[in-house]
Amino acid sequence: MQSEKTESEQEKPQKQGVYIRTFGCQMNEYDSQKLYKILEKDYQPVDAPEKADLVLVNTCSVREKPEQKLYSMLGELKALRSERPGMMIGVCGCVAQQEGEKILKKGRGVDFVFGTHNLSLVPSLIQLRKKGAPPQAAVDYREEWEELPLGFAENDPTRHGQAGHVTAFISISRGCNKACTYCIVPTTRGPEVSRAPEEIEREAKIAVHRGSKEIVLLGQTVNSYGLDLSPRMSFVKLLDRVAAIPGVERIRFTSPHPQEVRQDFIDFVVSNPKVCRHIHMPLQSGSDRILRLMNRNYRRAKYLSIIEALKSRVPDMAITTDFIVGFPGETEGDFRQTLEVMELVQFDNSYSFAFSPRPGTPAAAMEDSLTHEAKLARLQELQALQDRLMDAKLTSWVGREAEVLVDNHNRVAEGCFQGRISQNFVTHFVQPHKGVAIGSIVKARISGRGRVWLVAEPA
Ligand code: SF4
Repeated sequence: MQSEKTESEQEKPQKQGVYIRTFGCQMNEYDSQKLYKILEKDYQPVDAPEKADLVLVNTCSVREKPEQKLYSMLGELKALRSERPGMMIGVCGCVAQQEGEKILKKGRGVDFVFGTHNLSLVPSLIQLRKKGAPPQAAVDYREEWEELPLGFAENDPTRHGQAGHVTAFISISRGCNKACTYCIVPTTRGPEVSRAPEEIEREAKIAVHRGSKEIVLLGQTVNSYGLDLSPRMSFVKLLDRVAAIPGVERIRFTSPHPQEVRQDFIDFVVSNPKVCRHIHMPLQSGSDRILRLMNRNYRRAKYLSIIEALKSRVPDMAITTDFIVGFPGETEGDFRQTLEVMELVQFDNSYSFAFSPRPGTPAAAMEDSLTHEAKLARLQELQALQDRLMDAKLTSWVGREAEVLVDNHNRVAEGCFQGRISQNFVTHFVQPHKGVAIGSIVKARISGRGRVWLVAEPA
């Protein structure tokens, strides 16, 4: 028998559907979550553009062919809109910040464009368009931090123990003061602006209240956090404040820049039990000549000395990194030096890309004589080495004990879960066990491994 709707249910206007396609880094993922929150009064998330009344494309200009990806998606959306009249399309993220009005002029049916500093303007851009205004682009830089809804109400008790809420991503700064020659981020996101520590603490406390156990602090160069604040702050002080919040069980951060790593950072990371035994620190190349051309402001010896300082005190600290292969001028010898550093560090994992020029960056004007095929061949060799290193790491975990923070169900079987050990390897419980539930930290024995994950049972 169908239940009758209450009066208040009948009065509630039906929310429209919003779909956000996110490209790129965790910073973009974070912005997309904020956008869902900003829009939640009128829109509810849907899982496909076909069901949406509003589609936002959150773009990235760091990786290869971002504009191509954007315009091919806009082509598909334009076709979709012929079946869903009234559907709105917005473009945001780094390509939006960079291209602004040019996107509107391409005639792909985009209703509005907004930059990385203008998320809070979305509701008014939508309203303007609904009232018949022409397509708008809002891509102004803002010197101050743009305060946005935190994603959940302080007194909202409904989300405890749900998948997707165990880890909270919190942005601590935006923009970047470095000038890596291949990177467009300083142009698209502007100079570094740190967020007030009180706001970060507040967001972390709310996340814990909602059921989060792990806080991931996000920034382009997290360890230069706070130098622009008055009074000055340091990343280590911020880590200390977040670690002091009751209920925060684990802290991760991404990414530290090797140039900014100081002794107090190493001391804190190795000694605070809440900081995970995992550092993701981009290396990009193992050749000093290429690091100089990239304007990375550190040399391989500095990178290796940081790793040594960490591993001499915490031998099982997991180290992951980023590489760019085939940077302009990279010789076979330079590339071999990168492989050599990989062997020395024994990286647990890495993200690697073949160089492709980003228009407007100094590297785009450098002579790039290596063919695409040659770059791909190097990339394959590097990735094959990484696969071997990771393979050995995974195997070395079998038989050991570790704590697993359970963050989701898995597909292995009904009632089974997955999580991550402190070193960030995904770990599956392949049998249902009492005491294993989303949000719990389980002492586990690693009983096996898969291609890129571990298998565990409670110890
Ligand atoms: S540190 Fe370099 S690569 Fe990272 S965002 Fe800044 S300029 Fe780009």
